[in-house]
Amino acid sequence: MSHTAGVRVLLVEDEDRLARLVQEGLRNEDGIDVDLERDGVSGLWRATEGTYDAIVLDIMLPEKNGYQICRELRQAEDWTPILMLTAKDGEFDEAEALDIGADDYLRKPFSLVVLAARLRALVRRGAPARPAVLSCGTLLLDPALSQVTRDGETIELSRREFSLLETLMRAGGSVMSKQQLLDRVWGMDDEPASNVVEVYIRYLRQKIDDPFADDGHQPIIATVRGAGYRLVDDTEAASAGQVERR
Ligand code: CA
Repeated sequence: MSHTAGVRVLLVEDEDRLARLVQEGLRNEDGIDVDLERDGVSGLWRATEGTYDAIVLDIMLPEKNGYQICRELRQAEDWTPILMLTAKDGEFDEAEALDIGADDYLRKPFSLVVLAARLRALVRRGAPARPAVLSCGTLLLDPALSQVTRDGETIELSRREFSLLETLMRAGGSVMSKQQLLDRVWGMDDEPASNVVEVYIRYLRQKIDDPFADDGHQPIIATVRGAGYRLVDDTEAASAGQVERR
């Protein structure tokens, strides 16, 4: 008796041959019922309308890519387990898939046996817990909703700024070097301009620190000379009185 009998999965995949192979394979070998969509817009619609035990998302899709679908589902507080199919040439960062709320990923080409095993694990685990909101003093970052607030005021960030801030917040007050930030936020392969970190730190300060300085808030982003950057809890910094200035 299969553990996956009665399990329903949505597969969003535009490569027809692969999609059919997965659909038939999972049905015949594992008794998993697979609904198929071939583009991102239909995929998101079906994911929203239907009730699935898991969703398998290709990344490169017509109309809307797998990242966008995943992000939009999580923003709508839909926590159906998501497995992303990534390409072997690493066109997208797999870590990024997990960052935006996917639960697992599988690199193409993959075997059906492995896919079925991963799906079984996801279904057993059930819907993931909502990712925790990160905080540093008056600054809050909600990874699930891609939302940042300071003192309750919403701050609009670009995707890259958000990713940089999230990386610094996850460091929990430890110093991140410029190279670490380049690796985590931009990826080694991008070969970004060498001052890109400084530029984005400046953008972040303009949005996160500068507008709040008048209200007597201490800056949260601190430069640690020769070492990198770290975040400082502004509610503690006020009493400690020694924030490293930029
Ligand atoms: Ca594709």
